[in-house]
Parts: sequence; C-alpha cells; structure tokens
Amino acid sequence: MTDPLTTGATIGILGGGQLGRMLSVAASRLGFKTCVFEPGGDCPASHVSNFHFKAAYNDEEALRRFAEAVDVVTYEFENIPTAALDLIESLVPVRPGREALRISQDRLTEKDFLSDLGLTTAPYAAVTTAEDLEAAIAKIGLPAILKTRRFGYDGKGQARIMQAGDASQALADMTGQEAILEGFVAFSHEVSVIGARSASGDVACFDPGENVHEGGILRTTTVPARLSTAQRTDAVLMAGKILNALNYVGVMGVELFVTPQGLVVNEIAPRVHNSGHWTQQGCTVDQFEQHIRAVAGWPLGDGGRYADVVMENLIGEDMDKVPDIAQDRDAALHLYSKAEVKPGRKMGHVNRVIRQG
Ligand code: AMP
Repeated sequence: MTDPLTTGATIGILGGGQLGRMLSVAASRLGFKTCVFEPGGDCPASHVSNFHFKAAYNDEEALRRFAEAVDVVTYEFENIPTAALDLIESLVPVRPGREALRISQDRLTEKDFLSDLGLTTAPYAAVTTAEDLEAAIAKIGLPAILKTRRFGYDGKGQARIMQAGDASQALADMTGQEAILEGFVAFSHEVSVIGARSASGDVACFDPGENVHEGGILRTTTVPARLSTAQRTDAVLMAGKILNALNYVGVMGVELFVTPQGLVVNEIAPRVHNSGHWTQQGCTVDQFEQHIRAVAGWPLGDGGRYADVVMENLIGEDMDKVPDIAQDRDAALHLYSKAEVKPGRKMGHVNRVIRQG
C-alpha cells in the first residue's frame, strides 16, 4: 500500500476489545469502514465496527476472507499468533510491521533491542532452569522480578523475589515457561510516552503522562507528568529513536521509570495504549485518530496538549460509580460495554479535564 486510503476504504483490526472499539470509532470519524477479527462474540469493538469476523486465529479460511475484505490490517494486542500473521501479511499490508511485533512479543528480545539502541533498561538475564535463576540472582542481585518472556500483561506472569528463599516459588510460578529476571528499579514514579510515526517517516509524540499502577494494573494517568524539561525531552527522544529504529508506522506506547540517574525503559507496546486515553480530551487529535491516520498512510495530526487531564480506569466494581461520575460536568466517560463485570477487568475510563482558574 503506497497511496493514502480514501473514504470508504476498510481497515481490518485484529482484536475486538476496548482498544479495537476506540480505533473503530476514530476510523469511522475519518470516513473509513472497519472490520474486526475477534474469536469472542459480544465484544466491545463489534458494537461499533462495520463487520465482525468471529473466528479463531487458526481458522485459515476466515483469516483469508478477512484479509481479502480489507485494505490494511492493524491490531490492538501484540500476542497475535505468528502463523495467522504470516497468512494475513501474504495478502494485505500489516501496520505496524512485523519487526515491532517480533520484538515486543518477547521480553528478552525487547530488552536486547532497547540495550542495542543505547537505551537504559533494568539489568536482566534469561532464566529457564533453577541454575539459570541462581546465576542470574548472583549477577543482578535482589530484590528482583521474575517475568515470563511471553504473554504477560497487567502484571500477570510476574513474581517478586525479595530474598533468596523466594526464588524457588517464583520459578514455580513461571509454570515451566521461559523467563527473564529483572533487577528491581528504584524509581520515583512511572511515565509513558505515546509516540506516532507516519508511513513517510514523520514522528510526533504526545506529552508524557504519569502513571499509577495498582496490583500491576494501570489505575490513573495524569498530564502533565512530573518531569524536568530535560527529562521530558529525553523521554520524547527515546520514543522517537525506537520508532525510527523499527521503521514503525502507527502509535506506540513506551513505558518509562523515572530515577535520579535518568529514565529507564520498562517496556514498549506496538499499539495504542491505556496510558494514552487522556489524549481523547487533551488533544485535537487523540492517539486513536493518530494511529488510524498513520496506518491509512495519512499525515499525522496535531497531538499538542491543550488541557491538563487525569484519566482514571474503571475496573470491575468501579462501574458502580458511573451514575455519580455521570453527574460531574468535567468528567468525560468512556464505557466499553463489556457484557460482564469481573474483578480486575477494565470496564471503561473517565477523563477529567482540570479547569484552569
Ligand atoms: P510490566 O508488566 O513489566 O509493565 O510490569 C508491571 C508493573 O510492575 C510496572 O508498571 C512496575 O510498576 C512494576 N515493575 C515491573 N518491572 C519492574 C522493575 N524491573 N523494577 C521495578 N518495578 C517493576
């Protein structure tokens, strides 16, 4: 695909959760149709997209029909089975490209990539056996965190090792999966940069947001983040470096730890990101439109921040607060219409614009 997509073109989205839902809404505002591929039935994105392929990721026939029905494919999660991507990619462009997925699907590959770029990460070592873990602890020290290399999200697949006696339980928690030991980063706070790169190579980053996690799940993002001017510039330059190194097209989330010695990259997500939801009320062009613009081959929009915003996730029983939030004139509600409330499930979010004076 070299020419920009025009009105009526169809954007395929792998994954039908809330990110797919908000991407669909943004695409529709720009005159595109969307087609969601998602094995689950009554999913958040299916309510707002034009077409829904309800099929498994190993259903080759469905994947083929999906790819033939769309002009470009993007995705809302990074753990897409490789075989499904191989097939789709043989029929239609996939944006962001394969390299970003390959790197972000594996925490070890990701850390190697970031270190090779000259960026600082937590000290790390690959761990499969008890002997590996012992050697990794001897090299890195404690406290440390053992994480599965693949398929971890929202703090899942992680075990903290505070003292040597915790090691065997932490390894058992990995249930035989390949893991990575990370030294514990003594950070003062966490921030993230949502960056975008267009097909023609332009890069634009949103102002960094400050993130608070609870139980491994993002609770709030606040903009502006507490960062010095130098740190803010550094954060944006780091994101730009990563985007350019990958020849990336689309929006990416880059999570950073703030330490007295500088910024440490925690992880990258090759997609729109929960910590970028504040842009819906804080910018002329939000992260979802920015991503659709990029994958459609359009120029990037103006992501400059014009308001201070606090984004709060509505998780599980937080849904009970919705009637009260609906009364607050400074609160913009975004609900994902998930059929069932479950503990730890992201049900929606609220953006509160902080009025100046
Ligand atoms: P992750 O899934 O890797 O983003 O980890 C979830 C959360 O755990 C992060 O947002 C941090 O709050 C914490 N965390 C992860 N890795 C480290 C680390 N190496 N040092 C300190 N805290 C960490």
